[in-house]
Amino acid sequence: MSATFKTLDELDLTGKRVLLRADLNVPVADGKVTDATRIERLIPTIREIVRHDGKVILLSHFGRPKGKVDPEFSLEIVASTVADLTGHPVGFIPTDWTDVSGAKKAIDAAPAGSVFILENTRFHPGEETNDIELAKTMASLGDVYVNDAFSAAHRAHASTEALARLLPAAAGLAMQAELEALEAGLGKPRKPVVAIVGGAKVSSKIDLLENLVTKVDGLVIGGGMANTFLHAQGFGVGKSLAEKDLAETALRIMDKAIDSGCAIILPIDAVVSWHFKANSPTRLYSAEAIDPEGMILDIGPSSIERIKGAIDDAHTVVWNGPMGAFEMTPFDAGTVEIARHVAHRTKAGLLTSVAGGGDTVSALAHAGVKNDFTYVSTAGGAFLEWMEGKPLPGVDALKK
Ligand code: AMP
Repeated sequence: MSATFKTLDELDLTGKRVLLRADLNVPVADGKVTDATRIERLIPTIREIVRHDGKVILLSHFGRPKGKVDPEFSLEIVASTVADLTGHPVGFIPTDWTDVSGAKKAIDAAPAGSVFILENTRFHPGEETNDIELAKTMASLGDVYVNDAFSAAHRAHASTEALARLLPAAAGLAMQAELEALEAGLGKPRKPVVAIVGGAKVSSKIDLLENLVTKVDGLVIGGGMANTFLHAQGFGVGKSLAEKDLAETALRIMDKAIDSGCAIILPIDAVVSWHFKANSPTRLYSAEAIDPEGMILDIGPSSIERIKGAIDDAHTVVWNGPMGAFEMTPFDAGTVEIARHVAHRTKAGLLTSVAGGGDTVSALAHAGVKNDFTYVSTAGGAFLEWMEGKPLPGVDALKK
């Protein structure tokens, strides 16, 4: 694919101070990083900069310190993990982002190939307001800018947007891989494309559904949100999670799908229980005859077969959201079976599969297939906004 954004090989890195916008907003417990996936994804870019005798200066937000210096949100906590994973000593540079003269001295004095982490960008209120003065302060510490934080690209912040416009800028290798995978998912996909959307609520995914029906050939709707669609079509959903006030929205989305030639695939049967609890007794019902006292907690076997059939007809699958309350057995069965089917077809070379969003990643991990999809995005909000077809300011700022 010829990239519409600038890539690392288009920047002169030799001997340069490289401001690398990373996503170091990793989960931490008891002073230790508990999941270093986001740091691991930075390693190729860091190696590439070091290989060119550049200095790596990592910039990131961490938590929500609300524009104030707050030691609880200091990025110092991730420095040892970055050092362990990259195999380079890492210098942590504290700053409140008003005076960076000390940081500048430390960076300028360091030898080629040094790796630094600057303090949390959100310690300054200008980060979240995309303040140009703060971006200029950041820019004074580097010669070029590289962004490897796709997960922060939906936000126009000083370190993701304004800064990219002040220095020669490019996507890092992780950002590039992510954008290329997404391009293969919805940008220029191999058709037919089937989108699988699940999760709890329609209300959080209206924009996403409206965008998808105009782009994909088939839209599978599962999980709690399918109940709203079943209700809108006049089926009883008992005590299931459903947003009945969104019935009109659901019907509008279905009409738009018809106009766009997108087939909507809703559950035709459901696993029902009377308690929202793992291992509570279940019964299978057809979608038009749900027990008024029961709750739909997973899709049933006929729905699974139907969805598998849709996947078999597709060359590309894009997925966000579980098919049922997958955190509790046995209501994980539908999500697990669909996930394994997508993984199997992907491994056989028959399918390009792209999935993302917080719960989706844990659902795929639970199904044991996280590494068998073509691409799994760990970006939550940015992945959803991409699925909604919205522009991502952090990516737009890297455009050629
Ligand atoms: P979301 O964050 O919108 O993707 O929603 C994910 C959540 O939806 C998970 O915690 C699931 O347990 C929940 N969920 C999926 N299907 C159902 C259902 N039928 N009833 C209740 N919760 C569900």
